[in-house]
Amino acid sequence: MYMPILPDIAPYINSLKSRFMALLPILHYPDPRLHMRASVVDRVDADIRQLAADMSETMYAAPGIGLAATQVNRHVRVIVIDVSEDRSQLLTFINPELIEKSGECEGEEGCLSVPGIYETVKRAAQVKVRALNVEGETFELDATDLLAVCIQHEMDHLDGKVFVEYLSRLKQTRIKAKLVKQSRETF
Ligand SMILES: [Zn+2]
Repeated sequence: MYMPILPDIAPYINSLKSRFMALLPILHYPDPRLHMRASVVDRVDADIRQLAADMSETMYAAPGIGLAATQVNRHVRVIVIDVSEDRSQLLTFINPELIEKSGECEGEEGCLSVPGIYETVKRAAQVKVRALNVEGETFELDATDLLAVCIQHEMDHLDGKVFVEYLSRLKQTRIKAKLVKQSRETF
């Protein structure tokens, strides 16, 4: 997920630079691979930890506030999120499940896979999520506001759903046309 207003994170990005991490290319809508359903992670091993580390570096560099493995063409249930202003509260969710949701909120969302597009989406206002961390331990988290929205947005990616699919067909067609045009201009 992407937010247009972000604090200056350049110093943080520099401190993150490490030869053990890599920036991953992000798929752009309407790439059909964004609609693949991600598989459950059987074992949190070194490969999954490396993926999570690379994903967090990619998210911070973008810059974004959330990234799902699907967006970097790895179809396993891993998401990373950091909605803190100083970019110091990295959360990694492996095999996340929503175990409770309540309320309703509407806010403008953006997505690293749908550059330049911001649209209002209706989501649950509070969620409780259960997941594994990078140590393979189960944890539960109660989230509200932006964090709750971000968790729902990223979990949708794991099911092959991009936020523009909540919009009218007409809007989706316009967004697709705009992004296809943008990608032609880039190459
Ligand atoms: Zn997204």
